[in-house]
Amino acid sequence: MSGRVVIAALAVLVIGGSVVAAQGDDPVAEITPAFETEPMPQAGDSADDVAIWIHPSDPSLSTVIGTDKRGGLAVYDLTGRLIQYTFADGRLNNVDLRYNFPLAGEPSAIVAASNRRGDSLTLFRVDAATRELVEVTAREIETEIDVYGLCLYHSALTGKYFVFVNGEGGEVQQWELFDTGMGKVDATLVREFAVESQPEGCVADDAQGFLYLGEEDVAIWRFDAEPDRPARPVEIARVSDAGPLVDDIEGITLYYTADGGGYLIASSQGSDEYVVYSREETPEYIGRFAIVSSETIDGTSDTDGIDVTNAALGEAFPEGLFVAQDGRNTLPDANQNFKLVPWGEIARQLGLTIDTTWDPRAVGAPEASAPGG
Ligand code: CA
Ligand code: CA
Ligand code: CA
Ligand code: CA
Ligand code: CA
Ligand code: CA
Repeated sequence: MSGRVVIAALAVLVIGGSVVAAQGDDPVAEITPAFETEPMPQAGDSADDVAIWIHPSDPSLSTVIGTDKRGGLAVYDLTGRLIQYTFADGRLNNVDLRYNFPLAGEPSAIVAASNRRGDSLTLFRVDAATRELVEVTAREIETEIDVYGLCLYHSALTGKYFVFVNGEGGEVQQWELFDTGMGKVDATLVREFAVESQPEGCVADDAQGFLYLGEEDVAIWRFDAEPDRPARPVEIARVSDAGPLVDDIEGITLYYTADGGGYLIASSQGSDEYVVYSREETPEYIGRFAIVSSETIDGTSDTDGIDVTNAALGEAFPEGLFVAQDGRNTLPDANQNFKLVPWGEIARQLGLTIDTTWDPRAVGAPEASAPGG
């Protein structure tokens, strides 16, 4: 891949006799969606972020959980059909999930969302039998910042689960989640730091102990995700009008492979593209792709949240799944929604790895692994 990066960096365009430096003018891979979700119940900018939940025994029953920032959370099956719409009186902006959170003695899939109503954290568990979300927030967990982005982190060092939530003023808070013993989940604020301008998209690398945070108009930064470490930003990728990363930086997600490699992927909202970096200590730019229209499903633009999984999800997505919010849902014109794209299509076009062997559900698993929700 490094050869490709060098070629991209050195490429020049000759337009009308003048030579224009064209960083990121490598070809954009164009992928079509396999499915799209039912539209959001409300018009305008409503859908935002997304998380993929993998069913414990039948991966074809996995779900896509999307936020409605004018309402609650929507749960879809892998064909985009709505299974549940919950917490309709919220303003849920970003969502993330982790498996094996110890809740009332059961390893549970925990789902966290930033709620702009009340600037609070709202927590759910997944009921594997119904695939529906059950709210488990123990109390109104107020952040006292204008909440915006959110992601979860499971520490391989301590086994603890954390929520990172950020605010429109640049604030970043780290909350430790704990079981109240009553089937509910509460949180304690354990660390605060800040970036200079509005952040949103974030993702934690549970194996490497990193937090990747997008400062929307500036850069993707990396921080140590452990709460007792200094919050020193390391620049990973900077926004540029020439691309490949054009502001706003929106959703950020990680593709894990079994050998510790994989990819960091960011929504480059200003170019309607998704930018792929290597998942390593110093991530390197690899390539970019766009989601374009098929005959029946429109492509994506103005994307907010994204998520990806390497796991095989049955017949529809045997090589993994990438999901992106679509800011303009056409074919036909409708409220915003999410597009589901086979990872294999992206990987083949960009020369990326397809590895379905790494198990996202094993993160945080107890020694005698129980197949919890
Ligand atoms: Ca938007
Ligand atoms: Ca944003
Ligand atoms: Ca902006
Ligand atoms: Ca579209
Ligand atoms: Ca957003
Ligand atoms: Ca459509």
